[in-house]
Amino acid sequence: VVVIGAGGAGLRAAIEAHEQGARTAVVCKSLLGKAHTVMAEGGIAAAMGNVYPEDGWKVHFRDTMRGGKMLNHWRMAQLHAQEAPDRVRELEDWGALFDRTPAGLISQRDFGGHRYARLAHVGDRTGLELIRTLQQRTVALGIDVYMECTVTKLLKQQDGSIQGAFGYRRENGQFVLWQAPSVVLATGGIGKSYKVTSNSWEYTGDGHSLALQAGATLVNMEFVQFHPTGMVWPPSVRGILVTESVRGDGGILKNSTGSRFMFDYIPEYFRKETAETEEEADRWYTDKKNNRRPPELLPRDEVARAINSEVKAGRGSPHGGVFLDIASRHDAEYIRKRLPSMYHQFKELAEVDITKEPMEVGPTCHYVMGGVEVDPETAAAKVPGLFAAGEVAGGMHGSNRLGGNSLSDLLVFGRRAGLAAAERATSTTVPNVADAVVAEAAGEALAPFERDGGENPYTLHAELQTAMNDLVGIIRVAGEMSEALERIEALKVRAKALTVEGKRPYNPGWHLALDLPHMLRVSECIAKAALEREESRGGHTRDDFPGPREEWGALNVICSADGEDVALTRQPLPVMPADLAEIFEES
Ligand code: FAD
Repeated sequence: VVVIGAGGAGLRAAIEAHEQGARTAVVCKSLLGKAHTVMAEGGIAAAMGNVYPEDGWKVHFRDTMRGGKMLNHWRMAQLHAQEAPDRVRELEDWGALFDRTPAGLISQRDFGGHRYARLAHVGDRTGLELIRTLQQRTVALGIDVYMECTVTKLLKQQDGSIQGAFGYRRENGQFVLWQAPSVVLATGGIGKSYKVTSNSWEYTGDGHSLALQAGATLVNMEFVQFHPTGMVWPPSVRGILVTESVRGDGGILKNSTGSRFMFDYIPEYFRKETAETEEEADRWYTDKKNNRRPPELLPRDEVARAINSEVKAGRGSPHGGVFLDIASRHDAEYIRKRLPSMYHQFKELAEVDITKEPMEVGPTCHYVMGGVEVDPETAAAKVPGLFAAGEVAGGMHGSNRLGGNSLSDLLVFGRRAGLAAAERATSTTVPNVADAVVAEAAGEALAPFERDGGENPYTLHAELQTAMNDLVGIIRVAGEMSEALERIEALKVRAKALTVEGKRPYNPGWHLALDLPHMLRVSECIAKAALEREESRGGHTRDDFPGPREEWGALNVICSADGEDVALTRQPLPVMPADLAEIFEES
């Protein structure tokens, strides 16, 4: 089994595949321990009931489906809610040290869209602990790790099934061939196609694009999550995440007039009472004893749109965001203990002391709900031998992901992918890749060195990021998305002629030249699917089609490769069985 990616999903898949008896390798672009998952802050959502005993998988399932505006694959959401608690306890068995409740249980914190406090966490550094634990186990089990290696192509047999992967070592540019009947994609997301993003440099959509090229399908790529709170100032740090834990721990949002504007954006389903004053509303909505929640903890899409509207209405902060205030809600010691990373992040990057002053925040491209279409039980993609788990896979989160549901998704479906990949690998012979196939993959990778006088990849990347940010961003209209698609087409042509200077060892220009076609392909999927879905739902907001439309509530948009282009089809959503549908009749 070859696992591409060493984030939470990849490492969990590799551990499972190894434990099932398959010879397993993990390949990753960065050093082991540096995958994007390490940046995760707030926690892992799992209905363990440690803080609210009335919590359980059914409530978590319902929250997840409602958060995704019912477009989630119901079976993925069910498995996720049912299995997440075991995956968290297993992490603890493997050495993870979670924060504790006074009774000594794993502590669970509040997050947007979750009815009960259910995020298992380690301060605001949960991803670090998750990766540290899985990495330690990976190394202890003796699983082969290929660090600083980029996979550029998935290889297939004559019958269309997987026979391995091809890539290069970033350090010296030498090529590597993996021959394997099972490949697990765990490559994370796509944020680097956007100018303002919380995502790391690794997020160039490689897995989405490799899957598409290999003949797999992508589901609902129009759903990109813009997290409401990224840093907006100074420009060099624009987009870096300000964790939802700030709001989970009581932080409030204010506009330039000092008004707590989220009270003006409370949707009907959340509204409980009409209060005369802000103080009265605050008292009512923050009454934790009665399990009430402030409007700052509405799902991310709703908070991001509210911030966007305030800024557009001229009530933004000096640098185009709004204010996030925790200083007036808690004393300095509490803030430093609960949010140590945020304290340091603002102190060091923006010279703001969050224990004394508010932060300036605004929406940032954060997560892609769309991804490889997989079978919920096995994480198998449409191509035999190809599996996908974690952010690269689609379906689980519908049109909007709830905070904390990604880390649990990585563990639940990483394990399932590893299990199924090992089952296939241990019952199949190792394929033999022909020399001609290797030569072709090598030729494609070296092509940017062979050309003269072309543009450099940085210019094209910057143009793509601007197009996606400005034309396929948080609020969308048909004309702008069509323009984005025209620009992407032109960039595709220019990308074919780009040139890189220098040699193969540690050549970032070459690395970007190979990442760029992935970003262009993924951007084309996002723009085309977003143009196709003529409604607003979750992370997808159309100015020309405001609000959800019933017919679209039963449809997925599927992307597949059509030569060098992307083709779309509409596909009916899987129907939820009656016993699960009943859960939504309860309050
Ligand atoms: P990753 O962890 O991104 O790993 C991808 C791996 O694939 C990397 O090892 C990379 O090197 C490798 N890779 C990619 N392309 C290639 C290639 N071509 N060849 C070889 N290797 C490749 N979610 C939560 O649930 N709770 C949180 O508190 C939370 N906080 C977050 C905070 C921040 C700042 C951000 C940005 C996200 C947060 N998220 C959170 C989301 C969550 O962290 C991610 O969705 C999740 O970590 C993705 O994990 P993954 O295993 O799918 O991929």
